Amino acid sequence: MAESKKRITVAYGDGIGPEIMQATLDILEAANAPLAYDVIEIGESVYKQGATSGIERSSWDTLRRNRVFLKAPITTPQGGGYKSLNVTIRKTLGLFANVRECKSYSPFVSSPYPGMDLVIIRENEEDLYAGIEHQQTPEVYQALKLLTRPGTEAIVRYAFEYAHAHSRRKVTCMTKDNIMKHTDGMFHKTFDRIAKEYPQIKADHQIIDIGAARVAAQPNTLDVVVTLNLYGDILSDIAAQVAGSVGLAGSANIGNDFAMFEAIHGSAPDIAGKEIANPSGLLNAAIQMLVHVGEPDVATRIKNAWLCTLEDGIHTPDIFRQGLSSTGAGTRSFTEAVIERLGKQPEQLKEASYQTSRSEGIVVQPSSTASMQKELVGVDVFIDWSRARRDPDVIGQRLVEASTEALRLKMITNRGVKVYPDGLPETYCTDHWRCRFTSQQDATSFADILALLQCIYDAEFDVIKTEHLYTFNGERGYSLGQGE
Ligand code: NAD
Repeated sequence: MAESKKRITVAYGDGIGPEIMQATLDILEAANAPLAYDVIEIGESVYKQGATSGIERSSWDTLRRNRVFLKAPITTPQGGGYKSLNVTIRKTLGLFANVRECKSYSPFVSSPYPGMDLVIIRENEEDLYAGIEHQQTPEVYQALKLLTRPGTEAIVRYAFEYAHAHSRRKVTCMTKDNIMKHTDGMFHKTFDRIAKEYPQIKADHQIIDIGAARVAAQPNTLDVVVTLNLYGDILSDIAAQVAGSVGLAGSANIGNDFAMFEAIHGSAPDIAGKEIANPSGLLNAAIQMLVHVGEPDVATRIKNAWLCTLEDGIHTPDIFRQGLSSTGAGTRSFTEAVIERLGKQPEQLKEASYQTSRSEGIVVQPSSTASMQKELVGVDVFIDWSRARRDPDVIGQRLVEASTEALRLKMITNRGVKVYPDGLPETYCTDHWRCRFTSQQDATSFADILALLQCIYDAEFDVIKTEHLYTFNGERGYSLGQGE
């Protein structure tokens, strides 16, 4: 009966999107998934109608009503001020966790790492994806990397809850906190703190560069990885490729009120319309979706039919290998092969058996941050000095003269390296100078900063921005200059 069906929103997307979405919906239909669909148009056609967001206002109403979204990949036109619709949807609907299961299906799908079974949980809303960028001087461009305590707590807690619900043994945090001690440092510390609440799950931390090398070369040493948005984006493509093909993996974008399911790959315009796209990535995303909406039995039937298809060597070109594959399949024939195998169990690959997983119902409300004693202790004044003679001592002397009683020049850095006082002549200086003024007392005031800025302006400097220096509960809330 139509009334008992769960309504979900569907978008056919661009490139291979319509082919793989049709394949996925046909399999859901054949497996009697109790779903009804509201189709929205997003992506290239909407961009071309002039909506730089790639989505029409009315589509938000559908998304808001249904709360669950199965999305085929879309093409983001290059240049022209088009914003990534994927990022917009994730952030607008609060889809803070991106869950990518990267598993190898060896020996049926060739992978250098048989037995690989890795889940990457990527923070989905913050980090450099805030998209706040500025050109500040003729030579210097800046992107703001924003991390929040509540956002970090939510993703770390989600990773442990996921591990707990799926009987995973270890969660590994990956950051670059040897360099970014405040942003990545906060992520790592939050991880260490929350890990103590889950003593039954092993927890460790790796620097992202060696961590990425291990994903590529020793994925079997990892189980669940939790990381920041950009690192997770890169890591999960490496992991999916190492597992066999980017065409296999699905991803779930989870928030407390909404969820979106998609393949990890893009719209593959190079093979669009050729009937050779592998629909497995979107199908696996749809299987994650079925578990999410409380249909684990249907999810299990479809997954096992799909595993049987792989075992029978019916493979699309991206995974076709002589000796491993028996039948080269197109999108359609692969789909029909999965449908024919509904009700069968795989013989060698591990049989799927989904239950309504606790992780699908994980609700991680951002916790409010305990009040902190915040003290203003100085200011970094950023200056554009692009004159031919870029002598740090000249700039330093002039700024010492422009300093006030309350705020004195402490140092100048260029691209983060201290160049005044006592810089080294070898350091290359661009036109962007960070000039640190600190309070002569324990604390300073906004009025002191305004007075200092007036003096710097009067001394004919081009101030491009300021950043206040705070302590929180007495701890420094800003980084030192390299060499300070
Ligand atoms: P892509 O993932 O579309 O393609 C990379 C390579 O993998 C191509 O050679 C492609 O043929 C192959 N491939 C991808 N999916 C496949 C499948 N299901 N079966 C067989 N082969 C497959 O990445 P790209 O070429 O960098 O991006 C193309 C477009 O997709 C861009 O406009 C990009 O912005 C967009 N994109 C969208 C999403 C999304 O909607 N979630 C994600 C990534 C990229």
